[in-house]
Amino acid sequence: STMLEVSGLSHRYGTGDAAHVAVRDLSFEVAAGQLACIVGPSGCGKSTLLRAIAGLLPPTAGTVSLHGDRVTGVPDDLAVVFQDYSRSLFPWLSVGKNVEFPLRWSKLDKATRRTRAREALSAVGLSGVEGKLPWQLSGGMQQRVSIARALASRPALLLMDEPFASVDAQTRFDLEDLLRRVQTEQGTTVLLVTHDIDESVYLGDRVLVLSKSPAHIVADLPVGLPAQ
Ligand code: ADP
Ligand code: ADP
Repeated sequence: STMLEVSGLSHRYGTGDAAHVAVRDLSFEVAAGQLACIVGPSGCGKSTLLRAIAGLLPPTAGTVSLHGDRVTGVPDDLAVVFQDYSRSLFPWLSVGKNVEFPLRWSKLDKATRRTRAREALSAVGLSGVEGKLPWQLSGGMQQRVSIARALASRPALLLMDEPFASVDAQTRFDLEDLLRRVQTEQGTTVLLVTHDIDESVYLGDRVLVLSKSPAHIVADLPVGLPAQ
């Protein structure tokens, strides 16, 4: 079944002479459970596309639907990991509270929320840092906390914008493995933006290649190995 449907999506920043079309008339679908990567040159509109899908930017044209329902605000079964960890965590909340934060709107009781947060932190290789404040961790660790927060809510759709840009090579491999396990074991649909073609081919089931700005799809490639 289709998890995500993007139809005729455009986004323009500004108006008049200052107007800049970042995304023009993009259409594609992502099947439930698929890990789709988006690659394209820097500045082509990848982040804009992801933010529009997440309901964080209103599209100037077109629609985004999640399991058939048109997205108008920020959907609650969707989680986003941004590239910029320095702006994604609440600085006044402990790491544990940051990871638990999106679960406030769930029906889970307090103890379960805490367990979820602990498990998610452990999954990204960060056990025992619940009580620290974000600034007490390195940039790469803060990025892993952002990933843990996204995983803790067990979203149906996980949107990731260059999520591994700030972590070291070994951690990156570990997180790529984790992402694949999340996809196969929990059936999470993933849309991952990267400028690393190697990563997209290694990690994805599919690679959408975007053109220079304004972004449009120049190739839609099945990649990855058939199931063993
Ligand atoms: P975004 O595409 O999300 O806007 P940026 O253009 O800000 O990302 O790039 C993020 C980081 O990746 C920067 O440090 C930039 O120098 C680097 N970068 C961007 N494009 C490439 C590329 N094709 N190969 C290697 N590094 C790149
Ligand atoms: P990518 O993620 O592929 O690097 P972005 O989506 O970040 O691309 O940006 C696409 C284009 O839109 C770029 O030319 C960028 O300069 C422009 N842009 C991004 N954010 C804004 C903004 N808030 N206002 C105006 N232009 C923007």
